[in-house]
Order: sequence, then structure tokens, then C-alpha cells
Amino acid sequence: MNIQENAPLSALTTFGLGGAARFLIEAQQVSELLQALTFAKEKNLKTLVLGGGSNLLVGANGFDGLVIKIDIGGIVREGELLVAGAGESWDALVARAVEEGLWGIENLSGIPGTVGAAPVQNIGAYGAEVKDTLAWVEAFDTQSGTLVRLKNSECNFGYRTSRFKQETGRFVIVRAAFQLQKDGTPNASYKDLADAVRLNLTEVRDKVLAIRAGKFPDLQKEGTAGSFFLNPVVSAEKAAELIARYPQLPHFPAEGGIKVSLAWLLDKVLHIKGMSVGGARLFENQPLVVVAAHGSTSEEVRELVQKVSALAKKELGITLEPEVKIIN
Ligand SMILES: Cc1cc2nc3c(=O)[nH]c(=O)nc-3n(C[C@H](O)[C@H](O)[C@H](O)COP(=O)(O)OP(=O)(O)OC[C@H]3O[C@@H](n4cnc5c(N)ncnc54)[C@H](O)[C@@H]3O)c2cc1C
Repeated sequence: MNIQENAPLSALTTFGLGGAARFLIEAQQVSELLQALTFAKEKNLKTLVLGGGSNLLVGANGFDGLVIKIDIGGIVREGELLVAGAGESWDALVARAVEEGLWGIENLSGIPGTVGAAPVQNIGAYGAEVKDTLAWVEAFDTQSGTLVRLKNSECNFGYRTSRFKQETGRFVIVRAAFQLQKDGTPNASYKDLADAVRLNLTEVRDKVLAIRAGKFPDLQKEGTAGSFFLNPVVSAEKAAELIARYPQLPHFPAEGGIKVSLAWLLDKVLHIKGMSVGGARLFENQPLVVVAAHGSTSEEVRELVQKVSALAKKELGITLEPEVKIIN
């Protein structure tokens, strides 16, 4: 087991910001994950499980504990089931499904990060979510000290949430299986894909990748973790008040209330696309996305996020929740 000390985390996250991890271990097998957890226990270290670092903002002080980067690879097909190691790239799994002619996750093309992190926040895009196709996950349960297999119904999935997020730190996902379909049809439920009904599987993936290329910054040039904020789910009463003030506001029924489009509110009501603090700014093409230019700091990102949250509270009476996990 290779233990790195004082390992910079900026290179391991898509924001490209923040300090170092006191210790870093890359686990390519379940046995290495178990050794890493034992090391943390012996040294009384807190742990952070890391995938592709595409949903994290690391502060200047980094992480004073052990970061375990999950690099468990492999994709195996069993009939219409694709089973992948948690460290596989999510998009490599989608590409493989499309290559094999298996429908179900093509609308989730181009989402950065790993297979293991995908169920954590129940990734979603263009009318599809991981929970629609996930059959089971295999995870190490740090509470019982055993490897467990959790069925979809045991994962407590919701809008950008799951049991893995709710019971923070309990489960480390090592494999996940997706139930796909040979005889599928396009999921054209989302307005940007409405004309996808006649497309084949490869064409749907290409279309999603093309749409996304215009909506997100180029990760080679600037840092980001995608949408920084969740769309707020408000009470029916609050939604009615907002819709009376802004009749065009896109809104959707959601578990626990009504989900309102935060991007629309930031753009059409607060007019803050492009708002910046130092090198951090709200992306011009999609204001939920915070972009960090080369040379900016996590403090600048945080200040910008606080500014946006304060404005949303004052002008709209809405409390914003980050989608991105903030480390110290
Ligand atoms: C440009 C861009 C576009 C994006 N678009 C979307 C989008 O359309 N839809 C969407 O839902 N998200 C989107 N995201 C967010 C991000 O891609 C997803 O949240 C992704 O699943 C994060 O994967 P990761 O491997 O990078 O996780 P990380 O950022 O490394 O970790 C995220 C969280 O998952 C935990 N975690 C990671 N691996 C495991 C594991 N094996 N077991 C247990 N916990 C684990 C971490 O501890 C952390 O809490 C986007 C991000 C970027 C940068």
C-alpha cells in the first residue's frame, strides 16, 4: 500500500483548488481499501473518500486526515446488466453501454466523475437519474465492518441525494450494477431532447454531449464542479408566491414540495450571470455553474457563493443549498 503524505488535492479535483491531504492512499482493490481504513483507525484519522473530485470544493487548508481515492476498475457485462468498479469513469461506462447497444444511461452522457460517486448524489440530467437503472451497489459498510450489497430500494434515492449522502461516511461503494435494455427507446422527456424520439442510441449520446459542451466550461481551461447549487424545493405556498410574482418561472412537482428553477431566477430576476469575486464567477451560459479561472482561490469561490446565497435570501426569500461538498 502506497501512502503519500502532504498530497496536493488541487490536482485531484476539477475545481483545481485548495490545499493538501495529510495522507493519501489510492485503492485499486477492495483489499487496499480495507488496509487504508485500518491505517486510518490505527492513526485515529478522519477519512474522505474521493472519486474524480468533480463535486468537491477543497479549502486552502486541505484535509487533515486520510483521503482514500477509489481506483477500483473493470466493467463486466452480464446479459443486460453492466457491472462496474467504483473507480471507473462514469462516462466510460455510458460509452460502453452505448457501444453494446444497451439503453438506459445515454442521457447521462458526459457527466464527469466515477461510477462509485454516481449513486451518492443520484446524478441526473436530461430527464434521467442513476436511480432509474441502478440494480444494486456493493459497498463496504464501516459500521458493520462487512461488504454489503444494497438493492435500489435500499438506497433511499431522491433529488440529488441517497442513503450514501444521508449516512455520511458509512458506506464506501466498491461496485455498482446497472439494469439496461437491449430494446429501449429514447427518453425525450426533457425539452432540450424533445426531438430525439427518432434518434438511435449513438445519436442520443452525441446529442447530449453536444448540448453539454455549450452548457459547461471547458475543464481543460477553467475549474468547476458543475452546478454549485441545488434547485430549491419550496412549499406549495412559497411556490405560489413566486409564480404570482414571476409567471414564467419554470417549476416542477417534487418530493416534499415544488422544485423551482434556480438558473432562471438567477438570470431573469437577479440578473447575476457573470457575477464575480476575484477569479471566481457565475458561468455566462448557466448561472448555477461556478467557474474558477486559473489562479483563483477557494476563498473567492466561497465568497461568491455566499454573495449569491445572501441575494437569493434577501430578494427571493429562498435558502440556497450547495450541491457541491465543501471540505473545510
Ligand atoms: C462540468 C461538470 C458537469 C456536471 N454535470 C452534472 C450533471 O449533469 N448532473 C449531476 O448530477 N452532476 C453533475 N456534476 C457533478 C459531478 O460530476 C457528480 O456529482 C459526480 O457523480 C461526482 O463524481 P466524482 O467521482 O468526481 O465524486 P467526488 O467529487 O470525488 O465525490 C463526491 C462525493 O461522493 C463521495 N464518494 C465518491 N466516491 C465514493 C465511493 N466510491 N463511495 C462512497 N462515496 C463516494 C465523496 O466522498 C463525496 O462526498 C458535474 C460536474 C462537473 C465538473
